[in-house]
Amino acid sequence: MDRVTLPEECVENIAEQAPERFLGQMLFIKDDHLQEAPTVRSLVRWMSPVEQLSPCEHLIQRFLAEPSVYALPIVDDRGCPVALVDRKRFVEFFTKPYSKELFGRQGIVDFLNGNHYLAPAPVIVEDTCSLEDVAQIIITSGIEHMVTGFIVTRAGQYAGVANGHDLLSLITQRKQAELYYLAHYDHLTGVPNRVLLADRIGQACREAERNAGMVALLFIDVDRFKQINDSLGHRVGDAVLRALVSRFKSVARKMDTVARIGGDEFMILMESIAMPESADLLASRLIDAMRAPVDVLGHSLLVTVSIGVAIYPRDDRDFSRLMAKADAAMYEAKAKGRNGFRIYTEATATFNPARLSLENDLRHALARNEFSLVFQPQVEIASGLPRGVEALLRWNHPQRGLISPLEFIPLAEETGLIVPVGAWVMRQAFAQMAAWKTAGLPTLRMAINISAVQFHHGDFADLLARALADFDIDPTLVELELTESVLMHNVEEVLDNLRRIKSHGVMLAIDDFGTGFSSLNYLRRFPIDRLKIDQSFIRGITQTPANASITKAIIALADSLSLEVVAEGIEESVENDFLNSLGCKEGQGYFFARPLNTLQVEQWLAGARAA
Ligand code: C2E
Ligand code: MG
Ligand code: MG
Repeated sequence: MDRVTLPEECVENIAEQAPERFLGQMLFIKDDHLQEAPTVRSLVRWMSPVEQLSPCEHLIQRFLAEPSVYALPIVDDRGCPVALVDRKRFVEFFTKPYSKELFGRQGIVDFLNGNHYLAPAPVIVEDTCSLEDVAQIIITSGIEHMVTGFIVTRAGQYAGVANGHDLLSLITQRKQAELYYLAHYDHLTGVPNRVLLADRIGQACREAERNAGMVALLFIDVDRFKQINDSLGHRVGDAVLRALVSRFKSVARKMDTVARIGGDEFMILMESIAMPESADLLASRLIDAMRAPVDVLGHSLLVTVSIGVAIYPRDDRDFSRLMAKADAAMYEAKAKGRNGFRIYTEATATFNPARLSLENDLRHALARNEFSLVFQPQVEIASGLPRGVEALLRWNHPQRGLISPLEFIPLAEETGLIVPVGAWVMRQAFAQMAAWKTAGLPTLRMAINISAVQFHHGDFADLLARALADFDIDPTLVELELTESVLMHNVEEVLDNLRRIKSHGVMLAIDDFGTGFSSLNYLRRFPIDRLKIDQSFIRGITQTPANASITKAIIALADSLSLEVVAEGIEESVENDFLNSLGCKEGQGYFFARPLNTLQVEQWLAGARAA
């Protein structure tokens, strides 16, 4: 088990910033020593054993006698958490009953069974529990208050102090490590994903630049993978992908990076090679290695791959273009009959026609009036009453029909087209609000998605102010949905921008909350009104304890920072009931309504009012 040490700043900050608050919650201030020096460190000294009781027992006695202290975490002399004592539950960290040596003459269980402590059954957690887990348990077990408490060692010495915010920060740090993993590694196979690979390619190229070396990229695509998936199912498909990764790894050099960059697409990065032929050699070994069948889940499958090779700096010095060239060479290998590899040459065709035409069409879509908005209701969970709608963009492509925003928004962002398109969305949403007002429909909040590119481009606050004025919109009815990535830029700049936007009276929400690099710091500093809990946590929330814990933690966090919450993607009535029981106020999802066109919104509102 890791030793838990609380960051030194935690201790000093709390004591210095708010001694009254902090001391006010501690039991030890009842002591005569109070006037002496009201700092944490001096308080700790008084905790040393003065009576016959063991230090811990003494501590617990005092804790129980002082109703304003909420909870008392206890760690042993190695810094491992042993127990958390609070007034409602007692959390014990080891499945074995903790020993009398720690708690003095009585074991803690006897102690807590005494008449001082009238609590329901203790919560027993696994002995791998770290302090972060403690914090998680505290927060998710429905304890309303933040926890403040001492951490003492077995010898009664002071080891640190934690309050709810600091415990939460610890969780955040851990969550950030997890999120780093999620953002940089492929979940299915555990190898680096496209993001981490791009990073490593960049590094490798810089290194090669310095040493006049070379870097090779092998783009690998599994032949006819779709057939495997379609005929044998995803479970087999997933197992094949995992088996391929270990096969690729067994052929590549130890120092090469095998990465998964998409469904059935992989890349191998060969750093510091002396000559391009090393890459050809690896490619032909990979093809050879695929001769043996892949045995998964009772199937023995012959799987082949097509590979494209590009070399830095020979083929390109820009690594994103280099990746595209390896990709193009792979396409050529496919076109030449699969199960083989191609080396990039100047004659290799390097463009992706499908993407190019979509981009072209996107450029004309505004002028051709191909965009429209749909509106998905946001509902008060307890009463079922409509509270607002979220405007969602739709593109009706003349040949391809409706294209999902998930497909074209990233393209619009990359090409900068999101700026005019986003401005259109805002004005269109306001026009709709004005039309509903004229038609006498009930007043609803309008939530609008703002992409990071849009937010950081030009004077967004000014654009907003003009649009609000043009349509005579009550700004308190407008909510802008920002993703966490919007906020992850230069903090002062973002803060300044947010303040200017807020000065026009609109509300701000964080969309897909929990999927980005949530930092408590920005939540505290930025003028945000609402968190939208991402759908991935709501899906199957009643069956997935981890999702339930995260959702509870987000609701507790929002509560403690006085933010409102909306749960996204509620599909089932059980999910709705569960969220209601967690105290989640608002929800959005197919359970209430799908995204609706204007006419359907009016009908839905009539129904919702009648219900
Ligand atoms: P988002 O802002 O998180 O919007 C929610 C998405 O979840 C919508 O998808 C909605 O149709 C879908 N959804 C809602 N309830 C449920 C449910 O119960 N189950 C499931 N499976 N899905 C549900 P949509 O309309 O495809 O939009 C996808 C994303 O595209 C949006 O995610 C948003 O990030 C982006 N987007 C949409 N319109 C705009 C826009 O005008 N501007 C910008 N920048 N982005 C937009
Ligand atoms: Mg949204
Ligand atoms: Mg969302």
